[in-house]
Amino acid sequence: MALLACLGLAGCGQASTKPSAQTAAVTPPTTRQVSAPGGVGSGLVRLGTSVLHRAISAVVVGDPAARRRILVVGCVHGNETAGEAITRRLRSVRPPAGSVWWLVDEFNPDGCRAGMRQNADGVDLNRNSPWRWRPLDRPGETYYSGPGPLSEPESKAINQLVLRLHPAVSIWYHQHAALVDNSSGGDVGIEGRYAAAVGLPLLNYGVFPGSITTWQNASLPHDTAFVVELPGGPLSRRSIARHVAAIRAL
Ligand SMILES: [Zn+2]
Repeated sequence: MALLACLGLAGCGQASTKPSAQTAAVTPPTTRQVSAPGGVGSGLVRLGTSVLHRAISAVVVGDPAARRRILVVGCVHGNETAGEAITRRLRSVRPPAGSVWWLVDEFNPDGCRAGMRQNADGVDLNRNSPWRWRPLDRPGETYYSGPGPLSEPESKAINQLVLRLHPAVSIWYHQHAALVDNSSGGDVGIEGRYAAAVGLPLLNYGVFPGSITTWQNASLPHDTAFVVELPGGPLSRRSIARHVAAIRAL
């Protein structure tokens, strides 16, 4: 697996653009093995760059060769950033034996910096996947789906990651409907256990063209991807701990 093989190789995945200040503050901008608190092995993998050339990176925690790969994305829509507290907390937690976590704080770094839902092209990245993509809205409008499927560099980066990684479970945090969504075609048992563990209802939030999780479940039917809609505002320490425990139990 090319991405996993990248871990620990200096210069691997090199990009000409600078990493975001937030990423650089946590780990060096090059891809290499680092030690996280508690002796948990981790590494930083560059996945791609945003429209405005910010790094899109994953922090890999645990044994990169572990068979059960879990992808957790803290922020997709840039005005829904609460989930980043969970992905950042997971960096210093040890995954269960046989599991490795791929933690993407910000899939949409430009939107997160600007506090806006869309990326810097005005595209809603969760309407830009190939799954039943169709034109929606106009540039800058809420659900603008872009000029075509995977038109955006962020979408290409995550698409390639998913196809290479085949994560057994993927969790995508949004806000602020306060539910776990069971509509995108994943394993409802897994989704239901997660919902119970974090105290959120398991509900059908609707199926949308260009949805990332629905694309994942349609493309990789043995894996499960689902949306967790967190409540509005920042998460309490207790809530963060509950989500961390739920991910450890996956
Ligand atoms: Zn959202």
